[in-house]
Amino acid sequence: MIVGKLLASETAVDAALAATRLLGARGVHPEIGAVQLVNDALMTLSPSGTSEVNRKRIAEIALGRYHAVVPPWDEQQEREGIMG
Ligand SMILES: Cc1cc2nc3c(=O)[nH]c(=O)nc-3n(C[C@H](O)[C@H](O)[C@H](O)COP(=O)(O)OP(=O)(O)OC[C@H]3O[C@@H](n4cnc5c(N)ncnc54)[C@H](O)[C@@H]3O)c2cc1C
Repeated sequence: MIVGKLLASETAVDAALAATRLLGARGVHPEIGAVQLVNDALMTLSPSGTSEVNRKRIAEIALGRYHAVVPPWDEQQEREGIMG
């Protein structure tokens, strides 16, 4: 699951940036460009762990050293006064 998320989000960002580059100046055109694709792809990077953290988790799982210690997201948000 973690590997799938990592590959999917990194590939989405790479593909969206490639599309933007491929289109040249049109790539950043608000109507025909790929800027929205880049934005959508970037939105997938943080949820369910950033790529850096997921690479670390994958290494820890492979080494048998993974222990989930992070509290649920809604608890973190509430503690930081972001939600609730
Ligand atoms: C649109 C959106 C929806 C979300 N939905 C959910 C949800 O439904 N449920 C949920 O649980 N969470 C959700 N999240 C939270 C998301 O999981 C966190 O944003 C993500 O895990 C990163 O945590 P953070 O924002 O606290 O950044 P931080 O952990 O502060 O990370 C900041 C930077 O430091 C790097 N970093 C942090 N620790 C390490 C490390 N040990 N080694 C190397 N680099 C590190 C990160 O890669 C990142 O570049 C959502 C986030 C977004 C943006």
